[in-house]
Amino acid sequence: MMQDRLREIQARMCQAAESVGRDPASVTLIAVSKTRSIPELQAAYDLGLRHFGESKVQEAIPKVEALPTDITWHFIGHLQSNKARKCAEYFSVIHSLSSEGQLKEIEKGSNAVDGLIEINIAQEPQKSGILPSDLDQFGTSALQYKRTQIRGLMTIGPQVDNPEEMRPWFRTLANLSASVGSGWKSMGMSSDFEVAIQEGASHIRVGTALFGERV
Ligand SMILES: *Cc1c(COP(=O)(O)O)cnc(C)c1O
Repeated sequence: MMQDRLREIQARMCQAAESVGRDPASVTLIAVSKTRSIPELQAAYDLGLRHFGESKVQEAIPKVEALPTDITWHFIGHLQSNKARKCAEYFSVIHSLSSEGQLKEIEKGSNAVDGLIEINIAQEPQKSGILPSDLDQFGTSALQYKRTQIRGLMTIGPQVDNPEEMRPWFRTLANLSASVGSGWKSMGMSSDFEVAIQEGASHIRVGTALFGERV
């Protein structure tokens, strides 16, 4: 049952936060609802969830239109510049900013968004996000785009076998984020959100642990 899975996630979130003296309420749980049906999202909403994460604009539009309006929609997927303006019409937070092209397109629309800069934290080839060394420059150029308010950083990070292996990467992101916007840190997924919370995550993105395996 989704209710049991949610309770367990919330208990683990509390435990992780308290283990480092953090207020559990300072961590936002984003229900990653990509590939899930509208009734599944509605069930999550009925359990009290108000933050949802989607990774494709076209897939998200019918969900945004069908579900109640007090949801905060987070865009967490790869964002092509030519979809960025549309994305800003439906999402209030975009976690995957990594090019000025995206910011230019958002600027042409009429919606303001909160933005997170995606960092390729382990500098992996083929991975999306900007390199840590490009952050200062990108952060400075982003300031000229008034419809995007940069709030902090997001990372996915490398595939690891043991969530403890993510700790140094999460710590690096937290250090980098200190001077960016409000210092939001979107990090941690089903397999490693406790480590992310211990390292300062403000937003965790959880799909499988909440909804079950994706098909
Ligand atoms: C799918 C996805 C998640 C959720 O992953 P789970 O392992 O199902 O929790 C989190 N972040 C991003 C960027 C994703 O694409």
